Amino acid sequence: MIMTSQRSAVALISGGLDSMLAAKLMMQQNIYVEGINFFTGFCVEGHTHAIRKKDKQKTKRNNALWVAETLGIKLHIIDVVDEYKYVVINPKHGYGSNMNPCLDCKGFMVRKAQQWRTENNFDFIITGEVIGQRPMSQRKDTMPVIAHESGAFDRLVRPLCGRHLPATLPEQQGWIDRNQLKGFSGRSRKPQMALAAEMGFVDYAQPAGGCCFLTDKTYSDRLIDLWQARNQRDYELDDVMLLKVGRHLRPCPNFKMIVGREEGENNFLEGYRRQFIHMRTLSCAGPLVLLDGELTSSDIELAAQITARFSQGKSFDEVDVEMISKDGVGRVLQVRPLSANQIPQDWYL
Ligand code: SF4
Repeated sequence: MIMTSQRSAVALISGGLDSMLAAKLMMQQNIYVEGINFFTGFCVEGHTHAIRKKDKQKTKRNNALWVAETLGIKLHIIDVVDEYKYVVINPKHGYGSNMNPCLDCKGFMVRKAQQWRTENNFDFIITGEVIGQRPMSQRKDTMPVIAHESGAFDRLVRPLCGRHLPATLPEQQGWIDRNQLKGFSGRSRKPQMALAAEMGFVDYAQPAGGCCFLTDKTYSDRLIDLWQARNQRDYELDDVMLLKVGRHLRPCPNFKMIVGREEGENNFLEGYRRQFIHMRTLSCAGPLVLLDGELTSSDIELAAQITARFSQGKSFDEVDVEMISKDGVGRVLQVRPLSANQIPQDWYL
Protein backbone atom coordinates (compact mmCIF):
# COMPACT_ATOMS: atom_id res chain seq x y z
CA MET A 1 0.00 0.00 0.00
CA ILE A 2 1.32 3.51 -0.90
CA MET A 3 0.96 6.05 1.90
CA THR A 4 0.57 9.69 0.86
CA SER A 5 0.75 12.52 3.36
CA GLN A 6 -2.15 14.93 3.41
CA ARG A 7 -1.40 18.29 1.79
CA SER A 8 -2.19 21.50 3.65
CA ALA A 9 -3.34 24.96 2.69
CA VAL A 10 -3.96 28.28 4.40
CA ALA A 11 -7.18 29.98 3.30
CA LEU A 12 -7.79 33.73 3.47
CA ILE A 13 -11.09 33.97 5.36
CA SER A 14 -12.86 37.32 5.18
CA GLY A 15 -16.10 36.15 6.74
CA GLY A 16 -17.92 36.37 3.40
CA LEU A 17 -19.29 33.59 1.24
CA ASP A 18 -16.62 33.32 -1.46
CA SER A 19 -13.68 32.58 0.81
CA MET A 20 -15.83 30.09 2.70
CA LEU A 21 -16.76 28.21 -0.50
CA ALA A 22 -13.16 28.25 -1.73
CA ALA A 23 -11.90 26.70 1.52
CA LYS A 24 -14.65 24.11 1.48
CA LEU A 25 -13.89 23.08 -2.11
CA MET A 26 -10.32 22.35 -1.08
CA MET A 27 -11.41 20.45 2.02
CA GLN A 28 -13.57 18.31 -0.25
CA GLN A 29 -10.35 17.41 -2.06
CA ASN A 30 -8.87 16.10 1.18
CA ILE A 31 -6.70 19.16 1.80
CA TYR A 32 -6.03 20.08 5.43
CA VAL A 33 -7.09 23.73 5.72
CA GLU A 34 -6.49 26.42 8.33
CA GLY A 35 -7.88 29.94 7.96
CA ILE A 36 -6.24 33.32 8.30
CA ASN A 37 -8.10 36.59 8.84
CA PHE A 38 -6.46 40.01 8.88
CA PHE A 39 -7.60 42.82 11.16
CA THR A 40 -6.86 46.12 9.42
CA GLY A 41 -9.14 48.39 11.47
CA PHE A 42 -11.22 49.20 8.38
CA CYS A 43 -13.18 45.95 8.45
CA VAL A 44 -16.94 46.35 8.21
CA GLU A 45 -17.36 43.24 10.31
CA GLY A 46 -19.61 43.84 13.24
CA HIS A 47 -18.23 47.19 14.38
CA THR A 48 -20.94 49.78 13.79
CA HIS A 49 -23.85 47.48 14.33
CA ALA A 50 -22.22 46.39 17.56
CA ILE A 51 -22.29 50.05 18.67
CA ARG A 52 -25.60 51.42 17.45
CA LYS A 53 -28.60 50.87 19.63
CA LYS A 54 -30.96 50.66 16.68
CA ASP A 55 -29.06 47.55 15.52
CA LYS A 56 -29.45 45.81 18.87
CA GLN A 57 -31.76 43.19 17.40
CA LYS A 58 -29.18 42.11 14.81
CA THR A 59 -27.25 39.00 15.68
CA LYS A 60 -23.72 40.03 16.60
CA ARG A 61 -21.15 37.62 15.40
CA ASN A 62 -17.68 37.66 14.00
CA ASN A 63 -18.31 36.22 10.54
CA ALA A 64 -14.75 34.98 10.06
CA LEU A 65 -15.03 32.97 13.29
CA TRP A 66 -18.46 31.78 12.25
CA VAL A 67 -17.03 30.54 8.92
CA ALA A 68 -14.22 28.74 10.75
CA GLU A 69 -16.66 27.13 13.12
CA THR A 70 -18.98 26.11 10.27
CA LEU A 71 -16.12 24.59 8.28
CA GLY A 72 -14.50 23.06 11.35
CA ILE A 73 -11.12 24.71 10.75
CA LYS A 74 -8.69 26.59 12.94
CA LEU A 75 -8.70 30.38 12.37
CA HIS A 76 -5.75 32.69 12.93
CA ILE A 77 -6.81 36.32 13.37
CA ILE A 78 -3.81 38.54 12.74
CA ASP A 79 -3.56 42.23 13.62
CA VAL A 80 -1.97 44.04 10.67
CA VAL A 81 -3.05 47.58 11.61
CA ASP A 82 0.44 49.10 11.50
CA GLU A 83 1.73 47.33 8.41
CA TYR A 84 -1.52 47.95 6.54
CA LYS A 85 -1.06 51.72 6.86
CA TYR A 86 1.50 51.66 4.11
CA VAL A 87 -1.05 50.03 1.79
CA VAL A 88 -3.69 52.70 2.48
CA ILE A 89 -1.33 55.65 2.40
CA ASN A 90 0.84 54.70 -0.59
CA PRO A 91 -0.91 52.22 -2.86
CA LYS A 92 1.31 51.44 -5.80
CA HIS A 93 -1.71 50.58 -7.95
CA GLY A 94 -3.83 53.49 -6.73
CA TYR A 95 -7.35 53.56 -5.35
CA GLY A 96 -10.67 52.22 -6.58
CA SER A 97 -13.77 54.41 -6.77
CA ASN A 98 -13.19 55.56 -3.19
CA MET A 99 -10.15 55.20 -0.92
CA ASN A 100 -10.04 51.43 -1.40
CA PRO A 101 -6.59 50.29 -2.53
CA CYS A 102 -7.96 46.85 -3.46
CA LEU A 103 -5.16 45.57 -5.66
CA ASP A 104 -2.41 46.53 -3.21
CA CYS A 105 -4.57 45.23 -0.37
CA LYS A 106 -5.02 41.80 -1.97
CA GLY A 107 -1.31 41.65 -2.75
CA PHE A 108 -0.51 42.57 0.84
CA MET A 109 -2.84 39.96 2.31
CA VAL A 110 -1.61 37.18 0.05
CA ARG A 111 1.99 38.21 0.85
CA LYS A 112 1.23 37.95 4.58
CA ALA A 113 -0.41 34.58 3.99
CA GLN A 114 2.62 33.46 1.98
CA GLN A 115 4.89 34.46 4.86
CA TRP A 116 2.65 32.54 7.27
CA ARG A 117 2.59 29.54 4.91
CA THR A 118 6.35 29.23 4.73
CA GLU A 119 6.79 29.74 8.49
CA ASN A 120 4.20 27.08 9.21
CA ASN A 121 5.15 24.69 6.46
CA PHE A 122 1.87 24.65 4.61
CA ASP A 123 1.77 23.71 0.92
CA PHE A 124 -0.34 26.42 -0.68
CA ILE A 125 -2.70 29.38 -0.27
CA ILE A 126 -6.42 29.56 -1.05
CA THR A 127 -8.42 32.71 -1.82
CA GLY A 128 -12.07 33.17 -2.75
CA GLU A 129 -11.31 35.46 -5.68
CA VAL A 130 -13.54 35.31 -8.75
CA ILE A 131 -12.52 36.78 -12.11
CA GLY A 132 -14.56 39.86 -12.90
CA GLN A 133 -16.17 40.07 -9.47
CA ARG A 134 -14.55 43.33 -8.45
CA PRO A 135 -13.46 46.01 -10.89
CA MET A 136 -10.08 46.68 -9.33
CA SER A 137 -8.60 43.59 -7.78
CA GLN A 138 -10.47 40.67 -9.31
CA ARG A 139 -9.80 40.88 -13.03
CA LYS A 140 -8.11 38.38 -15.28
CA ASP A 141 -5.14 40.71 -15.75
CA THR A 142 -4.75 41.45 -12.02
CA MET A 143 -4.80 37.81 -10.88
CA PRO A 144 -1.16 37.23 -11.95
CA VAL A 145 -0.16 40.60 -10.45
CA ILE A 146 -1.35 39.46 -7.01
CA ALA A 147 0.29 36.04 -7.39
CA HIS A 148 3.55 37.65 -8.47
CA GLU A 149 3.77 40.65 -6.13
CA SER A 150 2.83 38.58 -3.09
CA GLY A 151 5.59 36.07 -3.85
CA ALA A 152 3.04 33.24 -3.72
CA PHE A 153 3.35 32.57 -7.49
CA ASP A 154 1.93 29.17 -8.43
CA ARG A 155 1.17 28.25 -4.84
CA LEU A 156 -1.87 30.52 -4.92
CA VAL A 157 -5.06 28.63 -5.75
CA ARG A 158 -8.39 30.30 -6.54
CA PRO A 159 -10.79 27.36 -6.44
CA LEU A 160 -13.84 29.39 -7.54
CA CYS A 161 -12.34 30.45 -10.87
CA GLY A 162 -9.31 28.16 -11.20
CA ARG A 163 -10.52 26.65 -14.47
CA HIS A 164 -9.95 30.00 -16.18
CA LEU A 165 -6.40 30.35 -14.86
CA PRO A 166 -3.14 28.58 -15.63
CA ALA A 167 -2.58 25.37 -13.66
CA THR A 168 -0.99 26.01 -10.27
CA LEU A 169 1.64 23.88 -8.59
CA PRO A 170 -0.92 21.90 -6.52
CA GLU A 171 -2.71 21.00 -9.78
CA GLN A 172 0.50 20.11 -11.60
CA GLN A 173 1.63 17.96 -8.70
CA GLY A 174 -1.73 16.21 -8.47
CA TRP A 175 -2.37 17.41 -4.90
CA ILE A 176 -5.71 18.72 -6.17
CA ASP A 177 -7.82 17.88 -9.19
CA ARG A 178 -8.21 20.80 -11.60
CA ASN A 179 -11.45 19.31 -12.94
CA GLN A 180 -13.09 19.88 -9.59
CA LEU A 181 -12.24 23.58 -9.54
CA LYS A 182 -14.96 26.01 -10.60
CA GLY A 183 -15.05 28.36 -13.57
CA PHE A 184 -17.02 31.23 -12.03
CA SER A 185 -16.61 34.69 -13.50
CA GLY A 186 -18.41 38.02 -13.49
CA ARG A 187 -20.37 39.97 -10.94
CA SER A 188 -23.34 37.63 -10.59
CA ARG A 189 -23.53 35.96 -7.19
CA LYS A 190 -25.87 33.23 -8.40
CA PRO A 191 -23.23 30.50 -8.96
CA GLN A 192 -21.86 31.08 -5.45
CA MET A 193 -25.34 30.97 -3.96
CA ALA A 194 -26.13 27.75 -5.81
CA LEU A 195 -22.86 26.21 -4.59
CA ALA A 196 -23.62 27.34 -1.04
CA ALA A 197 -27.02 25.65 -1.23
CA GLU A 198 -25.39 22.49 -2.60
CA MET A 199 -22.93 22.52 0.32
CA GLY A 200 -25.73 23.12 2.81
CA PHE A 201 -24.70 26.65 3.86
CA VAL A 202 -27.67 28.89 4.56
CA ASP A 203 -26.75 31.42 7.21
CA TYR A 204 -23.76 33.08 5.51
CA ALA A 205 -23.01 36.83 5.57
CA GLN A 206 -24.64 38.74 2.74
CA PRO A 207 -22.24 40.83 0.69
CA ALA A 208 -22.66 44.56 1.35
CA GLY A 209 -20.69 46.26 -1.40
CA GLY A 210 -17.19 45.64 -0.09
CA CYS A 211 -15.33 44.01 2.73
CA CYS A 212 -14.11 47.24 4.29
CA PHE A 213 -15.06 50.85 5.00
CA LEU A 214 -12.60 52.15 2.42
CA THR A 215 -15.14 51.35 -0.31
CA ASP A 216 -17.63 53.72 1.35
CA LYS A 217 -17.77 57.27 -0.02
CA THR A 218 -18.64 59.04 3.23
CA TYR A 219 -15.93 57.18 5.09
CA SER A 220 -13.38 57.92 2.36
CA ASP A 221 -14.29 61.62 2.34
CA ARG A 222 -13.77 61.73 6.11
CA LEU A 223 -10.37 60.09 5.78
CA ILE A 224 -9.29 62.59 3.11
CA ASP A 225 -10.54 65.45 5.33
CA LEU A 226 -8.49 64.08 8.24
CA TRP A 227 -5.33 64.04 6.16
CA GLN A 228 -5.96 67.51 4.79
CA ALA A 229 -6.68 68.97 8.24
CA ARG A 230 -3.51 67.46 9.70
CA ASN A 231 -1.50 68.18 6.59
CA GLN A 232 -0.21 64.64 6.80
CA ARG A 233 -1.25 61.32 5.28
CA ASP A 234 -1.24 59.20 8.40
CA TYR A 235 -3.67 57.74 10.91
CA GLU A 236 -3.90 55.82 14.15
CA LEU A 237 -6.33 53.01 14.92
CA ASP A 238 -8.43 55.43 17.02
CA ASP A 239 -8.87 57.68 13.97
CA VAL A 240 -10.00 54.75 11.86
CA MET A 241 -12.55 53.73 14.50
CA LEU A 242 -13.88 57.24 15.07
CA LEU A 243 -14.40 57.86 11.36
CA LYS A 244 -17.03 55.10 11.49
CA VAL A 245 -19.07 56.62 14.29
CA GLY A 246 -21.42 59.60 14.61
CA ARG A 247 -22.06 62.70 12.52
CA HIS A 248 -18.87 64.49 11.49
CA LEU A 249 -18.91 68.24 10.90
CA ARG A 250 -16.11 70.63 10.10
CA PRO A 251 -17.47 74.15 10.70
CA CYS A 252 -14.00 75.72 10.33
CA PRO A 253 -10.74 74.40 8.89
CA ASN A 254 -9.16 74.34 12.37
CA PHE A 255 -11.63 72.04 14.12
CA LYS A 256 -14.02 69.19 13.61
CA MET A 257 -16.90 67.83 15.67
CA ILE A 258 -17.94 64.20 16.12
CA VAL A 259 -21.56 64.14 17.28
CA GLY A 260 -23.08 60.96 18.72
CA ARG A 261 -26.35 60.16 16.96
CA GLU A 262 -27.85 57.97 19.65
CA GLU A 263 -27.20 56.32 22.99
CA GLY A 264 -24.94 53.56 21.71
CA GLU A 265 -22.72 56.03 19.86
CA ASN A 266 -22.67 58.45 22.81
CA ASN A 267 -21.48 55.60 25.02
CA PHE A 268 -18.81 54.66 22.52
CA LEU A 269 -17.59 58.26 22.24
CA GLU A 270 -17.44 58.50 26.06
CA GLY A 271 -14.43 56.20 25.80
CA TYR A 272 -12.50 59.01 24.09
CA ARG A 273 -13.17 61.71 26.71
CA ARG A 274 -9.55 61.84 27.78
CA GLN A 275 -8.25 62.32 24.26
CA PHE A 276 -10.61 65.09 23.20
CA ILE A 277 -12.27 68.19 24.61
CA HIS A 278 -15.93 67.22 24.64
CA MET A 279 -19.34 68.81 25.04
CA ARG A 280 -22.71 67.65 26.32
CA THR A 281 -26.00 69.43 26.99
CA LEU A 282 -27.05 69.88 30.62
CA SER A 283 -30.51 71.46 30.43
CA CYS A 284 -31.92 68.77 28.13
CA ALA A 285 -30.96 65.41 26.66
CA GLY A 286 -28.41 65.62 23.88
CA PRO A 287 -25.40 64.07 22.21
CA LEU A 288 -21.88 63.58 23.40
CA VAL A 289 -19.66 65.64 21.09
CA LEU A 290 -15.90 65.29 20.63
CA LEU A 291 -13.98 68.34 19.43
CA ASP A 292 -10.86 67.71 17.37
CA GLY A 293 -8.50 70.62 16.71
CA GLU A 294 -7.47 73.92 18.23
CA LEU A 295 -10.50 76.10 19.05
CA THR A 296 -10.67 79.84 19.65
CA SER A 297 -13.29 81.24 22.05
CA SER A 298 -15.65 82.02 19.16
CA ASP A 299 -15.15 78.46 17.84
CA ILE A 300 -16.13 77.15 21.28
CA GLU A 301 -19.30 79.25 21.22
CA LEU A 302 -20.13 77.97 17.72
CA ALA A 303 -19.45 74.34 18.71
CA ALA A 304 -21.76 74.74 21.72
CA GLN A 305 -24.53 76.13 19.48
CA ILE A 306 -24.13 73.18 17.12
CA THR A 307 -24.15 70.74 20.05
CA ALA A 308 -27.41 72.38 21.22
CA ARG A 309 -28.82 72.03 17.70
CA PHE A 310 -28.49 68.24 17.90
CA SER A 311 -30.06 68.08 21.37
CA GLN A 312 -33.68 67.84 22.38
CA GLY A 313 -33.52 71.56 23.14
CA LYS A 314 -32.95 72.53 19.50
CA SER A 315 -36.09 74.74 19.50
CA PHE A 316 -35.36 76.36 22.88
CA ASP A 317 -34.13 79.94 23.21
CA GLU A 318 -31.23 78.82 25.33
CA VAL A 319 -29.51 75.54 26.18
CA ASP A 320 -26.83 74.88 28.80
CA VAL A 321 -23.87 73.15 27.22
CA GLU A 322 -20.98 71.87 29.28
CA MET A 323 -17.51 71.86 27.79
CA ILE A 324 -15.09 69.49 29.50
CA SER A 325 -11.34 69.58 28.99
CA LYS A 326 -9.22 66.47 28.53
CA ASP A 327 -8.30 66.53 32.21
CA GLY A 328 -11.97 66.68 33.25
CA VAL A 329 -12.40 70.38 34.05
CA GLY A 330 -15.92 71.57 33.09
CA ARG A 331 -17.29 74.95 32.06
CA VAL A 332 -20.93 75.78 31.25
CA LEU A 333 -22.00 77.91 28.29
CA GLN A 334 -25.52 79.22 27.76
CA VAL A 335 -26.15 79.30 24.02
CA ARG A 336 -28.93 79.67 21.49
CA PRO A 337 -29.08 76.54 19.30
CA LEU A 338 -28.31 77.06 15.63
CA SER A 339 -31.27 76.52 13.32
CA ALA A 340 -31.03 73.85 10.61
CA ASN A 341 -30.41 76.41 7.88
CA GLN A 342 -27.55 77.95 9.84
CA ILE A 343 -25.62 74.71 9.34
CA PRO A 344 -24.47 74.62 5.71
CA GLN A 345 -24.37 71.23 4.01
CA ASP A 346 -20.67 71.54 3.35
CA TRP A 347 -19.96 71.40 7.09
CA TYR A 348 -21.05 67.76 7.04
CA LEU A 349 -18.37 65.23 6.24
S1 SF4 B 1 -12.61 46.21 -0.18
FE1 SF4 B 1 -11.09 46.78 1.40
S2 SF4 B 1 -10.45 44.82 2.35
FE2 SF4 B 1 -11.48 44.33 0.40
S3 SF4 B 1 -9.81 44.19 -1.10
FE3 SF4 B 1 -10.61 46.30 -1.20
S4 SF4 B 1 -9.32 47.46 0.22
FE4 SF4 B 1 -9.01 45.30 0.70
